[in-house]
Amino acid sequence: MKTIRNIFTILPLVVLLSSPTLVSAPESSPKLILTIVIDQGRADYMDRFGKEFKGGLKWMLENGTVFSEAHHAHAVTATGVGHGVLGTGYYPRHNGVIGNSWYRNEGSEAINCVGDSSVRPVTTAGDFKGIPRSSRNLKVRGLADWMEEADPASKTYGISRKDRGAILLAGKDPDGAFWYDSDTGQFLSSTHYYEHLPEWLNEFNREDYPGQFFAKSWDIAEDAQSVLPREDVVQSDYGWFNNEFPHPLGNAYPYPDSSFYNDFGGTPMMDAYLMELAKRLVANEALGKDEITDYLGISFSVVDSVGHTWGPNSPEMLDTLLRLDSYLEDLFTFLDQQVGRDEWAVALTADHGGLELPEYLNETGRSGGRLDQQDIACLQQLGEEFDRSVGDGEDWFVNGYYLNHTAVGRNNLRREDLENRGAKLLESCSAIRKVWTRTELESPSDDYFHTLFFNNYFPGRSPNLMIQWEENFYPSAGTGTGHGSPYRYDTHVPLIFAGKGITGGRVDERVETVDIPITFASMLGLDAPADVDGKNLLAKMK
Ligand SMILES: [Zn+2]
Repeated sequence: MKTIRNIFTILPLVVLLSSPTLVSAPESSPKLILTIVIDQGRADYMDRFGKEFKGGLKWMLENGTVFSEAHHAHAVTATGVGHGVLGTGYYPRHNGVIGNSWYRNEGSEAINCVGDSSVRPVTTAGDFKGIPRSSRNLKVRGLADWMEEADPASKTYGISRKDRGAILLAGKDPDGAFWYDSDTGQFLSSTHYYEHLPEWLNEFNREDYPGQFFAKSWDIAEDAQSVLPREDVVQSDYGWFNNEFPHPLGNAYPYPDSSFYNDFGGTPMMDAYLMELAKRLVANEALGKDEITDYLGISFSVVDSVGHTWGPNSPEMLDTLLRLDSYLEDLFTFLDQQVGRDEWAVALTADHGGLELPEYLNETGRSGGRLDQQDIACLQQLGEEFDRSVGDGEDWFVNGYYLNHTAVGRNNLRREDLENRGAKLLESCSAIRKVWTRTELESPSDDYFHTLFFNNYFPGRSPNLMIQWEENFYPSAGTGTGHGSPYRYDTHVPLIFAGKGITGGRVDERVETVDIPITFASMLGLDAPADVDGKNLLAKMK
């Protein structure tokens, strides 16, 4: 195993000549590095609410290097995909995480991006209803793995409310990953990481942190209340439900049950709970306590739930962001005490952005829409038309747009022909801008959207057809909004590096989220794989 120091002693000249980034690595590396992800953290939150931040986000904006044009460079801007990129420095086309889920065996078998039936859940409470989770479906190793390879004594962890956030942020084989069980309100892991949870985590779980909020509700904090009214913060209840603060948690049941823990997971207090877990982890596993750099990935999920339900312009979002700002201050203060001031470094970013509520876009004079009856009918009629043109009696496409290769072979047809026919038919629906075929995505091109879909394509996992919906269109009926498109509102995310060895500044040049792991590796003088997709941003941070 090579350490930073013996790379220097063995190859000082070669390193100095071939890799200028290593020269600029600090005299001594940070003792702890953190990747902090705000799930669905749109880049514009930093500008819109920058003046209101008083805590950790303010500190990062004032003292860090702010990359104002950081983008995800893949088409399916979903949580699993974003975290896969942020944890590894590889596009989905190399790391294999092409969605939150996909299908295998020609579309017949659903796969969760972190599902793994070969492991068992490891809990404090004893039972767990879901499928066990691990990094098994990740095809590459990530930053945490490179650190472990450089020195096995390096401690590496990922934590989040979401399983995929915790797991994918920490690469293939970290020391641990913990995520939230919304049935019990406790954090759990799997046998991929542990046979038994560490005792400090069992103790923390038994404290039942969420329980203190039982029989209470989520109400807007004074901080958020005091900056209202604001033109860009509106009560966004488009007649969907009784939507105003305060929001009660759980059903009418005399003890905390899964409905309570599930609702709790969608309030900012969940982010506080995760921050508390981060502090316990740092203290009990002694992160940042010696000269070997440790890693902690933290993904805060509540901005995402709030965005989906109330949208980016809601008082709920304002409240969630201001609270997160104060939780981060708490965490950073704790790290100053525990690890030492100027002994740790952090990158703050997001796994994807999000679309404003289509109804709000319309109300403010912009185009936008969501799936309606006409769109659904258009898509449904295509199946019949396809059968008429190709031949009845077969299920040509399975689970959306996976081609049934057995049927294709049996009828002696060409895959490309069927893909092209399917794509042409789909493109006749007004909500669809373009359909990318698997054949098309097997080769790169200079086209911007082609590149994003190409980066997202993984043979054997991706469907035969990938839909690019119209811009500002949310392909879901009902209420709320979301993400998942290749457009700016979904790709553009915050990126701020701060802490040891990083001077403040602003870089307006476009960079990619895939650059973060290699930038940290360079900061630590690590041997990262040569084929990594990201570029080192360290030279821009001066
Ligand atoms: Zn989401």
